[in-house]
Parts: sequence; C-alpha cells; structure tokens
Amino acid sequence: MSVLETVINNSFSPYTNTCFHAASLHGICVACNSMVDEHYLYRRPFDHLSPGLQLTHDAVALTKRLATNSSSLGEQKLHLVLDLDHTLLHTTEVSRLTEAEKYLIGEARIRDDLWKLKSSDFLVKLRPFVRDFLREASKMFTMHVYTMGTRSYAESILKLIDPDRFYFGHRVITRDESPCTKTLDFVFADDRGVMIVDDTRDVWPDHQRNLIEISEYNYFRKKSSQHSKPYSEEKTDESENDSGLVKVFRLLKEVHCRFFRVREELESKDVRLLLQEIEESNRV
Ligand SMILES: [Mg+2]
Ligand SMILES: [Zn+2]
Repeated sequence: MSVLETVINNSFSPYTNTCFHAASLHGICVACNSMVDEHYLYRRPFDHLSPGLQLTHDAVALTKRLATNSSSLGEQKLHLVLDLDHTLLHTTEVSRLTEAEKYLIGEARIRDDLWKLKSSDFLVKLRPFVRDFLREASKMFTMHVYTMGTRSYAESILKLIDPDRFYFGHRVITRDESPCTKTLDFVFADDRGVMIVDDTRDVWPDHQRNLIEISEYNYFRKKSSQHSKPYSEEKTDESENDSGLVKVFRLLKEVHCRFFRVREELESKDVRLLLQEIEESNRV
C-alpha cells in the first residue's frame, strides 16, 4: 500500500464539517461516502493526481512527512523538482525560426535531441546531457516535473523525454493546477528533503532555500535584435565545460552525499541547510 493510500484510509482530521476523513472525490468522502464541503478551507485540490481529488491539509502534511522518512530511510532517495523550459530544454514556434534556423525543420526528423511536436507548431531542443542527467539523478531522487506550461504541453514533452514514465510517473504539476507561482505544497515530500532545479528564481517565493538556480538554456534565437548568434545559427551547443546540467548535477550529488553521511542523523537532516553550507564553503 502506498503512503498516500495509508493516509486516505485513516481518519485523523478533526477539522472537517462532515466526517473526519482525509480524502474526497468530487465532493464525496472516499472512506464513508458522505458529502464534504469542497470549498472548505482545510481542503486542497489534487486534480493532477486524480480528477476531483481533495485532501485535508493534515493529510497532506502527514503524507509529506511519511514520504520523506520512508524514502530516505529505505532506498536513500530525496525528492527533486525539475522545471522544463530553459532548464531541460528550449522550445520555440516553427513560425518564429529565422532564415538561418530553418534547416532545423529537416533535421528534426533525424536528430534525437530535436523534435517537432506533432499536435502543434513547436520545435523542441533538448539541453545537452539531459538524458544522462535524468538517468543519474533518478538513482538519488524521486523526480517531479513542475512547469508553467499547460498540461497538454507537459504531456507532449514527457512523451519525448520519458515515454515510459520511468522517471516521473504521474508526478507532473502544470499551470493547470498552479497558475501563478510554484509551491512545494503540491509535492508529496517534506520540504527538508526536496531540491528544486529551475532557471527562474522568482516563481518560487516560499521555497528559495530549496532552489538551485540553473543557467538559462537558450538554443534558438530569442529576438531578431539579439547581437550574438544563438547555438542554432552557429550550429553548436552548450559544451560539457559550460553545461548547466553538469554543474547542477555535481551540486545535487554533494547535497545527497552529505544528507546520507550519518545514518543516525537522517531524521534531522535538511537539504536547505546543506545547500547553504556548501554555498558558504564555496565562497571561502
Ligand atoms: Mg524555466
Ligand atoms: Zn468520511
């Protein structure tokens, strides 16, 4: 039984009007079938996990704590939240390609790091090392995608980078659930065990200390006024030396290593403090 199922099957919230149970589907309690107030303050929607699902805040808090405890004590994994655009890839509209970039439309059919999305006018370029990054990071982290793109965009991208959902499962949060800013409230893990990799710091107002800000990956030309030639026109790409993903991976590995160094201290470890510690020692 998953941690989430354990929580759902236990009634422990003293706050709800109708019953004490933690989860409801479309306004009906999943444990006792009574009606619950969907607009009740102590409930939060989790439609991305299952349409109509709401959980009480207590259930979410408990699930988070159990998830981090069990994955850190068990398979020695932490949680990692990954942004898509400019972090793992760069997407542009075909109609915005410059003359010097149009050769890419033909190349998209044969290259394995460049695709034209079937249902739309988008061309997607993967950041170098993205596949190695996902493979290696998945050994240390349970991974989540968190994007300001729509769900249908996220689904098309996942078909390219994780077709069997080996890395991300259903752990995908999009603009549809989280339209303005990003928050770890939707991520089933304790904040002390979650790292975020994103090129935009501002979208994480409440979780800056969990964040590793990665350099923004741009492959295509952004504006016609841009002075230097983009990788697309130069026919080059980020190299291993200046690769944002390689640098971030080293840092993730360091945090993971420090978190698990002393087994007896696992329950008090906090990635936010470890990140700060590493930053400070790098400054000296
Ligand atoms: Mg981004
Ligand atoms: Zn109930």
